[in-house]
Amino acid sequence: MPGWQDLIRDVRDFPRPGVVFKDITPLLADADGFNAAIDALAAPWRGVALDAVFAIESRGFILGAAMSRVLGLGFVPIRKAGKLPATIHAQDYALEYGSDRLEIHADAVEPGARVLIVDDVLATGGTLQAALALARRQGAQVVGAAVLVELAALGGRAHWDPTLPLEAALVC
Ligand code: IMP
Repeated sequence: MPGWQDLIRDVRDFPRPGVVFKDITPLLADADGFNAAIDALAAPWRGVALDAVFAIESRGFILGAAMSRVLGLGFVPIRKAGKLPATIHAQDYALEYGSDRLEIHADAVEPGARVLIVDDVLATGGTLQAALALARRQGAQVVGAAVLVELAALGGRAHWDPTLPLEAALVC
């Protein structure tokens, strides 16, 4: 029987020639598949003391909002540069070509709040590493991270704090 994992499709040569992009839109469009994927993403965190989900723009928002709902947590957006209206912390991070920036509201949660970082795909790990640095600067206590898909060959896990759990619902 096909599982939710089978609803993630590989798109070749996107966004650049030679890249195989994991496209989760068919999964999101399937009610049972989406539900099962969120259940799998949430499973390791049920019963863990948490206050909020910190989710990374933009596909992380879709999964993170659903996680907030099923785990009964607040939702905090980590956004691309220039989108948040109030006082922010910003973190630059390296991409394969060039760099990018993530931002968070400086007053998003109380200092010491226990947070779970959520994103769709772990590739080289730079995005998750930047989100971790931002959350810590914000004063949050990061309990771990949850990603739907880990692209293991890209070694992104090496950029994550090895003392914290990083749970992937699907490892490719
Ligand atoms: P990293 O910083 O190289 O780990 O890239 C992770 C970020 O890029 C995540 O926010 C993902 O949304 C995005 N990303 C990288 N590869 C893919 C992919 O194959 N499918 C969907 N998103 C991806």
